[in-house]
Amino acid sequence: MRGLYVHVPFCDHICAYCDFTRCGYAKGLADKWLDAIEAELKQRQITDCETVYIGGGTPSCLSLSQLEGLLKLLRPYLKNSTEATIEVNADSFSDDKLAVCKEYGINRISMGAQSFQSDLLKVIERKADYDMISDAIERIYRQGIHDISLDLMYGLPNQTMAQWKEDLNKAAGLAITHLSLYALTIEEHSRFGRANIQPCDPDLEADFYEEAIEFLKQQGFAHYEISNFAKDAHYAKHNLIYWHYEDFYGIGCGASGKINHMRYDNTRNLHTYITKGACPDKHMLTKQEEMFEAVMMGLRLREGINKQTFYNRFHEELHMRYEQAIIKHVRLGNLIEDEKRLYTSYQGMLILHDILVDFL
Ligand code: SF4
Repeated sequence: MRGLYVHVPFCDHICAYCDFTRCGYAKGLADKWLDAIEAELKQRQITDCETVYIGGGTPSCLSLSQLEGLLKLLRPYLKNSTEATIEVNADSFSDDKLAVCKEYGINRISMGAQSFQSDLLKVIERKADYDMISDAIERIYRQGIHDISLDLMYGLPNQTMAQWKEDLNKAAGLAITHLSLYALTIEEHSRFGRANIQPCDPDLEADFYEEAIEFLKQQGFAHYEISNFAKDAHYAKHNLIYWHYEDFYGIGCGASGKINHMRYDNTRNLHTYITKGACPDKHMLTKQEEMFEAVMMGLRLREGINKQTFYNRFHEELHMRYEQAIIKHVRLGNLIEDEKRLYTSYQGMLILHDILVDFL
């Protein structure tokens, strides 16, 4: 199974915590970018994608005609996909953009909310509040797209547990099938980084995370990946391709892909992308790198790593290859191993990064 990721690098405004590949939207620039996307799509031979994911940036900040132009270019892949997602912000996802998404086969919407607290929205510099988001979700649902995911953040500056509980409660009351929860990280090149904002206390961050796991379980959301929760098995199929360490194409400025043991990273410079094309940095992955990356991604999932799948792919037994690390972390209660799988305990999910160091 393969996926296709398309990166839209434009945003209406820049959030205070963000250091993704993105820039302020400008119509002329976005027109040129669209031409470059068309050229890259022609150049890459994309044949077999089961999922399409249009991410960013903020794809919904494109004008209606640019959005339609992009969807037209992607039509051959959208037609054959089982899941086609677009990331949107409620403040730029108008009814006509929603209608065009539906027309071209988008069947899943991922919406950035981050917080429903007006004081925190000001701090992180985001516009869409709870009313805008709930209204957008209702419109999307009425339009017939019922697979809706929401992003929330915790560990925001001065965020309280009461605020976090209220956000989770409000999110669970919306017509969504999926939630992604992210801890704030202070990125050096974000406005927060430059302002020397301090990260959340790790104990409080763990409390936020544990509260979410408990609450969402009661609300019928399965915690199927370290940061992701789904109702009624509405898992993110495209992201499962990453977590199962399968191949995917990445299109656009700042996008990455992995095809047949080769990883490539397109230029992050929009001017270069427009004038010279994707200029990908290519790297042939060694077997060692692939095994480690498969473990790194697989341990994010509740289902963990299927030992037989690992053996079929690498012709090495997972347990033998990482014997010391597995024994150590099973003993510490961070990993659980049974006949078929190796997976992370709840306790282990809080320190997955530290566990992985022992697999290097
Ligand atoms: S967080 Fe998302 S919407 Fe905000 S600036 Fe970054 S890419 Fe744009």
